[in-house]
Amino acid sequence: IMKNIEGKVVVITGASSGLGEATARMLSAEGATVVLGARRAERIQALADQLNKNGGKALALTTDVTDVAQVKKLVDSAVEKYGRVDVMVNNAGLMPHSPLERLKIDDWNQMIDVNIKGVLYGIAAALPYMKTQRSGQIINVSSVAGHKVNPGGAVYSATKYAVRAISEGLRQEVKPYNIRTTVISPGAVATELPNSATEPDVAAGIKKFYDDNAIPADSFARAVVFAMSQPEDVDINEILFRPTRQA
Ligand code: NDP
Repeated sequence: IMKNIEGKVVVITGASSGLGEATARMLSAEGATVVLGARRAERIQALADQLNKNGGKALALTTDVTDVAQVKKLVDSAVEKYGRVDVMVNNAGLMPHSPLERLKIDDWNQMIDVNIKGVLYGIAAALPYMKTQRSGQIINVSSVAGHKVNPGGAVYSATKYAVRAISEGLRQEVKPYNIRTTVISPGAVATELPNSATEPDVAAGIKKFYDDNAIPADSFARAVVFAMSQPEDVDINEILFRPTRQA
């Protein structure tokens, strides 16, 4: 069991697949209590049941991160059931790429609502508890796309640049409360993310890129474990990683 992970209460948004699910599995195996939020209730409930059956502690709560009240309820429930919230992983996100000139305004709004506002709502829900505890860690998920922009990815990149800006501002502001802030920026990882593409030609390009490049989701979970398991006076501010074969 990894030091400084066992017994921690970790809330994870977007825990129904991909990076969030892999993180829940790995942290549970390391002795953390995991609280899982996502819209697909059956998925997170099945995952929580499995982790509990394996001797872990897990709770699933249907959560749409675009609804500030639902995100608050997710974190409140973690504290009600387990007494505290040690780590908030703001992971839920989607990536419906398209060139701006196609004017996919619903997709833009969805990315802004989930990838940016969802992160802010997670911070809003967890921060009051962490301030009272005078300890905690907020882990936000950006991307390689939060470091560079490619054609078709302007709005997605904008949301991921925003996650880095928010994380850096948060990091500076919450120092007095002994709260750690970490932003993790993965490259191509094999998840259901390419399924969020809504334009068939763009989706085909993304699928090929992921088929050629993507690495397994436990690459991300290991980054979370690394950031969490440092001594409390060490704050891993940012982790940027990608498949060795990805340009
Ligand atoms: P997946 O599509 O596998 O997972 C996305 C998760 O987000 C799902 O659990 C989904 O749950 C959840 N989600 C989407 N919309 C909402 C919503 N409105 N409310 C609550 N949950 C929501 O993709 P990944 O695991 O890859 O994505 C996780 C994060 O990683 C995203 O922020 C993504 O941008 C980021 N990322 C991924 C990379 C990759 O290559 N895979 C690279 C860089 C960053 P549900 O549908 O059940 O609500």
